[in-house]
Amino acid sequence: MKEIVEVAVGLPVSKTFPYLIPEKMRESIQIGMRVLVPFKGRKVTGFIIGLLNEAPKELEGKLREVEELLDEAPLLSLEMLRFYKWISDYYLYPLGEVIKTGLPPGLHLKSELILSLTAESKNSLIQGSLEPVQEKIFKEIERRGKVSLKKILRRFPKEVSKSQLFSWKKDGLIHIDVGIVGEEVKPKFEKIVHYQGGDLDQPLSKKQSEILEWVKMKKDVSYSELSKTFKSPLRALQNLQARGLLSISIKEVSRDQSVQPGLKAYPKPELTPDQEKVLSEILKGIRSRRFSPFLIHGVTGSGKTEIYLRAIEEVLAQEREAIVLVPEISLTPQLLSRFKDRFGENLALLHSGLGRGERYDQWRKVWRGEVKIVLGARSAIFAPFKNLGIIIVDEEHDPSYKQEEKLKYHARDLSVVRAKHSEATLLLGSATPSLESFHNAEKGRFHLLTLPERIEGRPLPHVELVDMRKEEGLLSEGLRRALQKNFEEKKQSLLFLNRRGFANFILCPECGFTFKCPNCSVTLTYHLRERSLQCHYCDYRTKAPGDCPTCKGHRLQGIGIGTERLEQEVKKIFPSIEVGRMDRDTTFRRRSHLQILKKLESGGIDILVGTQMIVKGHDFPNVTFVGVVSADTSLHFPDFRSGERTFQLLTQVAGRAGRGEDLGEVIIQTFNPDHYSIVKAKDHDFIGFYQEEIQFRKALEYPPFSRLINFRLVGNSEKRTRAMAEEMGRIGKDLLKKYGKGIEILGPSMAPFSKMRGKFRWQMLVKGKSSPWLHQFAKDLASRFKTQAKGVGVELDIDVDPVFIL
Ligand code: ADP
Ligand code: ZN
Repeated sequence: MKEIVEVAVGLPVSKTFPYLIPEKMRESIQIGMRVLVPFKGRKVTGFIIGLLNEAPKELEGKLREVEELLDEAPLLSLEMLRFYKWISDYYLYPLGEVIKTGLPPGLHLKSELILSLTAESKNSLIQGSLEPVQEKIFKEIERRGKVSLKKILRRFPKEVSKSQLFSWKKDGLIHIDVGIVGEEVKPKFEKIVHYQGGDLDQPLSKKQSEILEWVKMKKDVSYSELSKTFKSPLRALQNLQARGLLSISIKEVSRDQSVQPGLKAYPKPELTPDQEKVLSEILKGIRSRRFSPFLIHGVTGSGKTEIYLRAIEEVLAQEREAIVLVPEISLTPQLLSRFKDRFGENLALLHSGLGRGERYDQWRKVWRGEVKIVLGARSAIFAPFKNLGIIIVDEEHDPSYKQEEKLKYHARDLSVVRAKHSEATLLLGSATPSLESFHNAEKGRFHLLTLPERIEGRPLPHVELVDMRKEEGLLSEGLRRALQKNFEEKKQSLLFLNRRGFANFILCPECGFTFKCPNCSVTLTYHLRERSLQCHYCDYRTKAPGDCPTCKGHRLQGIGIGTERLEQEVKKIFPSIEVGRMDRDTTFRRRSHLQILKKLESGGIDILVGTQMIVKGHDFPNVTFVGVVSADTSLHFPDFRSGERTFQLLTQVAGRAGRGEDLGEVIIQTFNPDHYSIVKAKDHDFIGFYQEEIQFRKALEYPPFSRLINFRLVGNSEKRTRAMAEEMGRIGKDLLKKYGKGIEILGPSMAPFSKMRGKFRWQMLVKGKSSPWLHQFAKDLASRFKTQAKGVGVELDIDVDPVFIL
């Protein structure tokens, strides 16, 4: 029997550590279980990633013991562990933290310092002999009984410090102990009452017979439901149980809050010949039980989703499992109802909109093999299936697949890796594939499948560009006319603007003053309804003043428009038309999103104004006109992908028009009517766009012709962050001697958003032709830099394959 485990703790440490297994755990301990282990004076949750025969030589005799075994069965299979190790290596991120990212929240216990009062201080509280500050804090500790030191420091940041608390401990006023905190999410169980029937030997009380009748009618019913119907039913129930008329059992239940969408049913159609052709290729892949990667390039409305559903049917027939990834915002009721109509309850949902308990329950359904399909946003790539047959990534180009904080993984890229590990089929689908994926298809790494036409030969919408250099105001003459006409024909319209709020920023024309976020290097957006100025990055809010705070001028002006203003303008122009708005401000409440869509579906909205939220996943036959108020917002993004992003957005928005019987019309307003991203989007010409864009990437050696890693430095002090950036630059240059021409360094320079959430940001971009070579370089750089940066208060944040370099 093994005596030592290798443990990855869920902390930012780059190594894993061996621990001794106590005698009593040796029989039950397995790879993939969680343990509580002592670590730097605390107790933390770790994951067992290996079993060893003996301790490494240098640690012999010094090993500490595992404190507690937290699971009865492994949470992680060996296959998942292999996947997590790959991720940890590729993204230069600690293994324990990678695993933590992949698990639902609430599985992570750790120890903390806990405060409680001593008899002496309790006494002083009663006598009222304490100083005011002390009294306030002690009262808080007493109220909570036990409270973590961190919480008290957070609650009273000005009044008390850590050293102060420790000095009170020395004076015998408080206890400071190590305790375990963190609400662990547990499965939820319910008592279920069953009807057993049988003969009555003695008469029943009125209440007893009522309960018995009721349960008989329902057959099985949960205790919680029963106690809603009958007041304090416990005694009666126990009596009925004792007489064998009812029985009670315990069952695990799922906290399933997923909405029953209540939209139109989705019948299974006959496939079109194009769909048949594409599907038959995919079925060959699935039946081969080998890694089979496909890229489906299909225009919007060409029937890709139906292909996904059919492919999943085949995978289920083979008793294998399916992961379906969709961008966060397209987890729409419509998509959900299409899956539910086809697969019923054989489906788990994983996305960030779920509560902790719900998410945990959905995850457990997968883990226990109760469902065979997972539908979710990017984190669903970690669904713990054991026999995966297919991974589908819808709208594979979508930037929301990239996690932009902590572990900066790209779920589409991970889907390739996981499908390979599992010998599964991979389906990437999009009307506007990413340059990387299409390039991979060109090189033969992905098998390219095409759906060139919309279902039933419905034409793609007719798109017109309006040159805004020749127009005045917000909405061009043409756009107004089109909205009016569409309304008169009893059709619906979408109006897209990729910016929320009322005005982009507020300017004083007299002295030039603008309102900036105190934490970020951006201007504040004006929101009319709350009369507030808001930062869209850190959520800083402040009341909008009437006059300029510097020169006291009275002529403050809003510059640039957002969806809130657009809605108002449209209402002004068309007073008799129903206008709705969908953006983050109108959908922050749960289900408000669904309500807006339902209103659109039922015809209660004539014109829907919105941000990116209206772009995806919806399919409304009566929407025949789409207006793009400004195509230029994304074009001016300081990033090499801005052209690609613009093309994708415009194509997707335009794709919302005319999905029913009638021809769709689109008007795009722009100040750059000759830019190829805009022209090619107008012509629905992905290939044409790809050919131009790929030239540009090649000339500048940007991905897919190279790989990038962004080394970002983030610190509280401007000076130190800059100094460390320079230091990193020196280390980088020095390393180039060893790595030579294959690596190119850009920077260090100030990040495009040089301050964010109160922290200063610098960055250094490293480009490499070969990924392994670039990774080697990155590891060298990171480890040399980390020794230099110890204790300086500047953090290194590594972004491998950044999507946006901000
Ligand atoms: P995509 O995912 O490519 O945008 P969808 O799968 O949503 O396309 O299909 C577009 C529309 O065509 C949907 O309303 C869908 O119900 C319908 N549809 C898909 N396949 C067929 C088919 N074979 N016959 C009839 N209608 C279909
Ligand atoms: Zn801010």
